[in-house]
Amino acid sequence: MDRRHFLSAAAFAGLSGCAHRAKVAVATPNPLPGLMPVRAETDRIFRTTVCLRPFRAAGPRLEVERVGDKTVVHNYGHGGSGWSLSWGSSSIAVERAMAVGEREVAVLGCGALGLTSAILLQRAGAKVTIYAKDRPPEVRSSRATGSWTPDSRVALTNAVSPDFPALWERMCRYSFHTYETYLGLAGNPVEWKDMYDLTDGEQEGPKQQDAGLAFARYRDRVRDLTPRRRELPPGSHPFPVKSASLTSTLTFNIASYSRQLVNDFLVEGGKIERVEFQSPSELVQIGQKVIINATGYGARALWRDESIVPVRGQIAWLIPQPEVNYGLMYGGVLMLPRRDGIVVQAMGIGEMEGYNDASEAPDRAAAEAAVGVIAGLYARMKR
Ligand SMILES: Cc1cc2nc3c(=O)[nH]c(=O)nc-3n(C[C@H](O)[C@H](O)[C@H](O)COP(=O)(O)OP(=O)(O)OC[C@H]3O[C@@H](n4cnc5c(N)ncnc54)[C@H](O)[C@@H]3O)c2cc1C
Repeated sequence: MDRRHFLSAAAFAGLSGCAHRAKVAVATPNPLPGLMPVRAETDRIFRTTVCLRPFRAAGPRLEVERVGDKTVVHNYGHGGSGWSLSWGSSSIAVERAMAVGEREVAVLGCGALGLTSAILLQRAGAKVTIYAKDRPPEVRSSRATGSWTPDSRVALTNAVSPDFPALWERMCRYSFHTYETYLGLAGNPVEWKDMYDLTDGEQEGPKQQDAGLAFARYRDRVRDLTPRRRELPPGSHPFPVKSASLTSTLTFNIASYSRQLVNDFLVEGGKIERVEFQSPSELVQIGQKVIINATGYGARALWRDESIVPVRGQIAWLIPQPEVNYGLMYGGVLMLPRRDGIVVQAMGIGEMEGYNDASEAPDRAAAEAAVGVIAGLYARMKR
């Protein structure tokens, strides 16, 4: 057994470095040849986070509005797609902001949309100040899963304008190609990960259980960007399930990625000011005449925009295992190994899970239950 498989076996058996116990580990074959097991133990949950997706039935708001002598370009309401669409959505907001002709521009918000707006404004030649209540890692964006999910809860099919699908595609392609430029950098802000979809039979698939709302699905428009999902024949994979498929997805290691974005912005002379606005009328305090509003879920209160519906999502974070280089979906639970922690997220009833739930209180029992599902999968492999 080579060192890699020895370590794998030891980790899978949950053993310490003690010589006697290590001998036992040697005798335990790695049930996942080539894949390292996740230590899905509830005492390895080091935090549980909750985030609210800023969902709008009509899709993200990108309109231009006058507030007194200010021009406000909105860039909020990206549901479960905010990281994925950020560069493309912000490129449109920046075009609209720069069209006003001012060279000093303000950005409200320091999450995925605010940071990408600010950086693209700088690249377009503007001098930029970000005004925000929170910055990473406090922002809601820092509590996202970190996957390429460009049409997750982005709109309802019957509520969008006829040109929205094409606009979405434009945002999606622009973002994807920008993310390519963050691959291979120190700290791995962005990387590709293999993802297995494992099912025990017909019962799986929260998608089938979605009831009520017709969430928009546009992935077929950008099929060429990512690898196709392949069914894996029985015996060709190590998992004890009825069916398995494999694809690869972009993963955002949000701790290092958002730090990189903040640093890139500051290095180019950007400024960040901590401030909370209670109403649009307070924007007179800002010197700049052009403002990109990237306040995310915060726009609901600030802009009195009740078209924003909160869609709650919770993640249990397991201690990172750099040796685990694949993710999986099993029993309605997603496991995604990031550099800053292993994401374990119950997908529940699919897109409707957490719909209109504004509670940001973590639910420890639900976190442990999700980890238990993943533990159950690995336990079956040990038998
Ligand atoms: C559980 C979960 C998992 C997710 N996973 C993914 C994923 O894998 N991929 C993906 O693409 N998307 C994902 N999302 C969606 C993504 O997180 C959001 O779409 C995105 O974070 C929205 O970013 P934002 O910049 O608009 O908002 P935020 O990150 O909320 O940033 C808003 C900014 O505005 C500031 N602000 C707000 N109000 C005010 C105010 N009144 N005054 C001053 N400042 C203010 C805040 O302080 C903050 O700086 C997920 C969401 C959840 C909940």
